[in-house]
Order: sequence, then C-alpha cells, then structure tokens
Amino acid sequence: VEIAARLRELLGPDAVLTEADVIAPYLTDYRGNYRGAAAAVVQPDQTASVSKLLAWCNEHRIPVVPHGGNTSYCGGATPSEDGKSIVLSLHKLNRIRQVDSANFAIVAEAGCTLATVQTAATEAARFFPLSLGSEGSCQIGGNLATNAGGTAVLRYGMMRDLTLGIEAVLADGAVYSQLAPLRKDNTGYDLKNLLIGSEGTLGVITAACLRLFPAPRHIATAWLALPSPAAAIALLALLREASADRLSSCELVPRVALELVCTHISQAREPQLAPSPWYALVELSDSHSDAIQGTLTNALATAMQQGLVTDVVIAQSVAQRDNLWLIRESVPEAQRRAGASLKHDLAVPVARIPELLARGTALAEQLVPEGFVIAYGHVGDGNLHFNVNQRQDADAEEFKACEAPLKRVLHDLVAELQGSFSAEHGIGQLKLGELERYASAAKLQAMRQIKQALDPNGILNPGKVLR
Ligand SMILES: Cc1cc2nc3c(=O)[nH]c(=O)nc-3n(C[C@H](O)[C@H](O)[C@H](O)COP(=O)(O)OP(=O)(O)OC[C@H]3O[C@@H](n4cnc5c(N)ncnc54)[C@H](O)[C@@H]3O)c2cc1C
Repeated sequence: VEIAARLRELLGPDAVLTEADVIAPYLTDYRGNYRGAAAAVVQPDQTASVSKLLAWCNEHRIPVVPHGGNTSYCGGATPSEDGKSIVLSLHKLNRIRQVDSANFAIVAEAGCTLATVQTAATEAARFFPLSLGSEGSCQIGGNLATNAGGTAVLRYGMMRDLTLGIEAVLADGAVYSQLAPLRKDNTGYDLKNLLIGSEGTLGVITAACLRLFPAPRHIATAWLALPSPAAAIALLALLREASADRLSSCELVPRVALELVCTHISQAREPQLAPSPWYALVELSDSHSDAIQGTLTNALATAMQQGLVTDVVIAQSVAQRDNLWLIRESVPEAQRRAGASLKHDLAVPVARIPELLARGTALAEQLVPEGFVIAYGHVGDGNLHFNVNQRQDADAEEFKACEAPLKRVLHDLVAELQGSFSAEHGIGQLKLGELERYASAAKLQAMRQIKQALDPNGILNPGKVLR
C-alpha cells in the first residue's frame, strides 16, 4: 500500500494500478504456466516517467518487471510470487515518433504493437519485415527484449538485424538514447546489441529506430508437397539460388499439423494436392519485377524433375495466399486445442535439420508413447518447434511425467548437433537451468559480470535469464 502511494506521488494517480481484478492479467503468462504477485502495475506514458520510476526503485531496491504484450513463452514478463515487484507495463508508450522514408527507418516507442509498426511502414510505402503469429498483441519493446524471429528471418534477419538504434532507461534511471538511423557506428561497446535479447534484465527499452525496406510489390507464394525433410533442405538451396536470394520464407509443416489445423481451425481450407508426409510454404518477393512468379514456377518445375517436390499449389489470389499463411500460423493454436503438448524451440545448422528430425522423433517415440510428434516451423533458419502432443486416450499424468526426460535428450541432441535449445523464445524463467547446463563457463561468467555492472542492485527482472 505504501509503495503504491509513493508511486502515485511520483508518477500521477492514473499511472498506478492496484485493484486485484485489473492487475490480474499482468500476473500470469500467455500459456498460463506462471502466476505471480505485484505491489502495483505502473503504466507510464513518457520515457522521463520510466526514468523517475527506475531511479526510485533502484534507491529503494524494489524489483521491476518490464511487461510488453505478454505473448512470450518463457515466463519472462511474469513477476515472482512474493508480491514485492512492480510490473512496468509499456503499453502507453505507444507513439510512432517518426517514419523516415528517405533513410528507410522508423522510430517507434516500445509499447507500439508490431502490427502498428508494420502498418505505419506500409502507409509510407515501406516495409517492416518482422512477422509473428502474435503481431497484433506483441510490442516492439518485447520483440527487442526477446530478439524475436518469425517467418521472414531467412531474408531479413531477426529483430537484432532490424534495429538501427535504441532508447532505454538503465537501472539507476539514466536514459541511454541513440535513435539516429545510422547504418554504421563503431564507437565502442554496442549497448544496443547488449540490450536486445536481454529480456528486461539490463534496461527498459522505451523506443527504437528500426530498419525499413522497399515494399515487396510482387509476391509469389506456394504450398508444396515434399517426400522428406532432406528434400526441404535441397529445395531451400535451389530456391535461394534461382531467385537471387529473394526467398523470404521457407516453412516446414508435417501432414499431422495440417490435419490438426483443418480439424480445429474452421476458416482454414486444405490445399488441393496429393497427401504427403511433409509440406513446405515458400514465398518469394520482389519490390520491382513481376517476373518473380515465373521465377518460382520455373524453380519448382526443376524441383519436381529432381524429385524434391511431388505436388504444388501456387497462390493465384490474395485470398489463397492468406489461406496458406493461415494454415501455417494456426499450427500452435490447433495444437493447443488438440490438448496438452511438450514444446521445444530448437535450432541447428540448416543442413542438420533432417538429422534432428530423424533422431529427435525416434527419441520422442521411445520416451513418450502417450504422445505424437509435431515438428514444424522455420526450416529456412534451421529452427523447428519440436513439439509432442498428448494422444487423446493417453493418461495426462504419465504424459506430463515425460516432460523432463524428453527435454533432456532433445537438448543434449541439439548440443551435439551444435545447435541451440532456445532459437527464438529466450530464457525467461523457464529455461534458466538449461542455460546453466549448456552455456560455457566463460559465457556465464561474462553474463553475470555484465548484469552486475549494469544492474548492481539486481532490480531489473530478477530471476530471469540468470538466477
Ligand atoms: C501465436 C504466437 C506466435 C508466436 N510466434 C513467434 C515467432 O514466430 N517468433 C518469435 O520469436 N516469437 C514468437 N512468439 C513469442 C512472442 O510473441 C515473442 O517472444 C514476442 O517478441 C514477445 O513480445 P511481447 O511484447 O509479448 O513481450 P512480453 O511477453 O511482454 O515480454 C517478453 C520479455 O521481454 C521483456 N520486456 C517486454 N517489454 C520490454 C521493454 N520495453 N524493455 C525491456 N524488456 C521488456 C519482459 O520482461 C519479458 O522478459 C509467438 C507468440 C504467440 C502467442
């Protein structure tokens, strides 16, 4: 009560929420795996207010948990259960400060949703390529703090690659601001890249200058039937070469995932091609030439001759393209509706995807007889969401008991394949133990020293990323 009263004096009455039913959504994560408590939720609308807040919290050693759209998967935005933290919601810092067409850049505040930034870019005849199933809710600050990936990484990179500058408030309230649209800046340690992916543990991001691209005016999208994951890897190389690297997405979808989507998502229409164990959604885009459609058709003819592809549907309209993307984007939701699942966000060097799938599936089938594997996702980036869903007639307790042993063998497998146990979802509180297990001693020590240097009182999102 005392903390909330002091915060109201500091930030004004409208910026502080304490009613139980109002703050409840801020205290649990998207998947409902974590539940916390907080002294208050604060919602400042200016960087200066965030600065005042952090200076005060640092002085009084009060933990602060930054909170964006709350769509992340690792519990990073949920406070601990002791009720001593303040949740800092950034949703009122939601202005587009500038769209700079000449410099192909946009300056957006942290609380802008990703969809707002995409729309602002489109209105200026530019393109912001980050694309996630959660784009209507997730926020730019959250995208930066988790270094989000998504479906266009293959061509445009992750959030880190899309960021030119950042404005952030450090633990003691100091404001670091570098929002100029600079492509080159080699002036010492790169604070921007330190803050990106730090999940709210090193600073609170309040705004960013993001890279824009020429709008893709011509888009060619196809849904393909493939005999195997190995064919997907060969196809990926073929399409990159044939299109002069204008391949923006290459997503792998197994038959079982397509069936789940068609069962649970009423708007989705199954593409009309012969049943196949694997499918790929591929997309080429060009800002200038409409020859991209022909490029795709010719490349797919070659792929069929080589046996990499057995059947093809090329989208002939925006509605058909939307349906293909709806299928891909609906896999997580269809899976959720189908029942409990054990999820893993794995990355390996692209060419090792077939080995990951073959060995991972064999391990899962052996360890989890109550489940079935649904491994799908960003094959062009070497990143698969390797999930195991509970069979309908399976015992829920027995299925849940498989979680820890399965995680161990899959994460050991990706370590052996020189991969990552967290490709794009971060660490949060879910994967703290995994980071401790798989990161080198040198990396962990450097991370702890950085945390100590930037947040000596440990007020920023304690218990996340590092214990
Ligand atoms: C349907 C669906 C599809 C998804 N698809 C993808 C995908 O393809 N690729 C992908 O990478 N992710 C995906 N995600 C996960 C999620 O959307 C991303 O991790 C996203 O970047 C999180 O943003 P957010 O605003 O919701 O962050 P939150 O969940 O609110 O927070 C995430 C972390 O960032 C910190 N944080 C938030 N805002 C700030 C800030 N301003 N300053 C400092 N720290 C901050 C929080 O403390 C927390 O640690 C998906 C999620 C859903 C629900």
